[in-house]
Amino acid sequence: MKNFPVIRIWEGCDPTVAEAIRQFQDRWRPYSGASRGKRIDRLIQELIDPAVARYAASLPQQYLSYMPGAGGVVTLSDIVRLVGLNSMARLQRQLLRAFVSTQAEETARDQRFVATLETLLDLIRACARKPPLKAKVRDTRLNGRRAQEFCRLCGAPAELTAFAVGNDNTKRDDPGDVLRLSSVYCTDHRPQLPNGDWNPAYRKAKRSLAQFDMELARLTKQSGNWKKVEAQSGDPLVDSYIYHFIRKHHLRPGDEAELRDHARRMADGKLSDRKKQMVMLERYGVSQSDAARRLGVERQAVSKALAALPSEFRQLPNLLGFPAYFLVSTKEAN
Ligand SMILES: [Zn+2]
Repeated sequence: MKNFPVIRIWEGCDPTVAEAIRQFQDRWRPYSGASRGKRIDRLIQELIDPAVARYAASLPQQYLSYMPGAGGVVTLSDIVRLVGLNSMARLQRQLLRAFVSTQAEETARDQRFVATLETLLDLIRACARKPPLKAKVRDTRLNGRRAQEFCRLCGAPAELTAFAVGNDNTKRDDPGDVLRLSSVYCTDHRPQLPNGDWNPAYRKAKRSLAQFDMELARLTKQSGNWKKVEAQSGDPLVDSYIYHFIRKHHLRPGDEAELRDHARRMADGKLSDRKKQMVMLERYGVSQSDAARRLGVERQAVSKALAALPSEFRQLPNLLGFPAYFLVSTKEAN
């Protein structure tokens, strides 16, 4: 199973679907989206369609429209054939988000439903990434090691992973084939350039590795719950910043590449916790002088920091309906 993506079965997933995916993973080695004889949609049809149908039969009608292939007429494998794996994953992602944002309260059945949707989305994403078995030349170059899926420093695939799934872009600056492909870093973050110099993007990203890891952990934690503040940063303003950031971008725990990219952009954009606090106070309508007093800095420092902040970090959705206790704790601290 070397170099193949792993399909993640989310905790709480429907057991029938989970078992079908385990069997799928045992058997999918010769199958792929690109292969003619062993088309992966056939394996989906054989193993996943019946499991989805069984689970769907246990659900009330209003759930079915969020789960592609659950309606009983068109199956999951039918839709994959109609629109392809990548569009299928986009569709599943949108429906999952729609379900999560419309549910007023979370019942045990909702939780199982969400975990099952996450699992099925991961299945389709893994199918889309899976390389065809016939790429023998590439497989030997990988030398039997399991390629790491993501770059250590961002959300892009590591060079070796990208190459293994057929992306020749990894060699775009290296026509002479001087460099060994990295199993740890993506093309943008590889330590050395083809001319032997250190790569400045690598050095820059490496310096902010601790912040990257910290932001990624917070974002991941918060992405599992859109209704409660979860980041546990130790500061309520930072927590609420992460909460709004996740809601703005509609991120779920399965969006690993996106979560990693956001964490990298936060680190590269020097979005410190102090700046997050400033943005939140601004969003609550606190004046810059009051914000400066609360944070123990000069007013000019607040206005300068906010003005220099890229708009992607300063613009958050409006705060209507946000738990008022954050406002209270802001006042109490004064
Ligand atoms: Zn990278």
